[in-house]
Amino acid sequence: MWNEVYVEEEIKNHPRVTSILEKLKKEPLFVPRYDDIWGRSKKPYLHKRDSLNLFLARKHGQLLKLAPDAYGSAGEPHYYFIHAYNCIYECQYCYLQGYFNTPDIVLFINHEEIISEMEKVLSNHPGTKVWFHAGEFSDSLALTHLTGELELYHEFCQKHPEALIELRTKSVNTRELEKLPPLPNFIISFSLSPEDMAKRIDMRTPSTKARLQAMNTLQKAGFKIAAHFDPIIYEDKFRERYEALLNQMNSLGLNQSLEYLSLGVVRFTKDVYREVERNYPDSVIHSGSMVKSFDGKVRYHRPMRMWMMNTIKELSIKSGIRPELIYLCMEEDA
Ligand code: SF4
Repeated sequence: MWNEVYVEEEIKNHPRVTSILEKLKKEPLFVPRYDDIWGRSKKPYLHKRDSLNLFLARKHGQLLKLAPDAYGSAGEPHYYFIHAYNCIYECQYCYLQGYFNTPDIVLFINHEEIISEMEKVLSNHPGTKVWFHAGEFSDSLALTHLTGELELYHEFCQKHPEALIELRTKSVNTRELEKLPPLPNFIISFSLSPEDMAKRIDMRTPSTKARLQAMNTLQKAGFKIAAHFDPIIYEDKFRERYEALLNQMNSLGLNQSLEYLSLGVVRFTKDVYREVERNYPDSVIHSGSMVKSFDGKVRYHRPMRMWMMNTIKELSIKSGIRPELIYLCMEEDA
């Protein structure tokens, strides 16, 4: 899978690096700093199909970022933590294609430092629930059999019941997760699209059916699960397709056990939109016209977004999801 594996000199004897290299069975190249090479010259996003390099590194600088408004459920602070850059999957709308100069993957191994930052944040919000999200710059489960960090974040949740961790994923790689006991503040959330749409735009990801099965396995094991219908993309039959998806979920008893459901209509920064047009000119993403909106992002116009979200919200409620558990993601006062 990996063309080359680069390891920063500074961490070459770190036990987590040793363990990853043992699993990879590949001779690494040692470099002073990952960003001496990673992203130094432009590597087109689609090159990830044929040649993907892996970098093992220590994250310097900001380890946590305050999430933008309307990122998660309202009234509580939300942060995301940065444990990796880039992803093995290839979603046509992925914002990483215009965000980094390269699709090569970086796995940061200094999780203890990330967790100590999380503890600092908690101490700045006494008596408040604080959310920490993984999966902003990468899928949060896809490589966990390799990286082996889940246990640390799980331990953090055990120690700090006022913290909530959300692992956001499209992966069905739940093996490592299932070795851990479920916790009320350790939530696994799956991004879902109707089956046919996922086939077309969530390239190289597990099918919607497989994701639903993984959700079912986890809920049966007692894990807290959540769902994101994000990005919602317009097509003629979008209503019917979401109805079918909600029925599929309902038949597995997922709708009654979701912690929350977020709805977000497809949106792009200008740069990402340009990349999507270049990389996927024939994509279904281009079937609805888009405009620059309130935050400078490119989206469908507001009445269409509201109509789509309200349609899906109504369907979700009809299928048994409690209205108070549904929120609209990255929208102005909707
Ligand atoms: S799973 Fe997420 S991070 Fe990975 S390619 Fe898809 S949108 Fe991007």
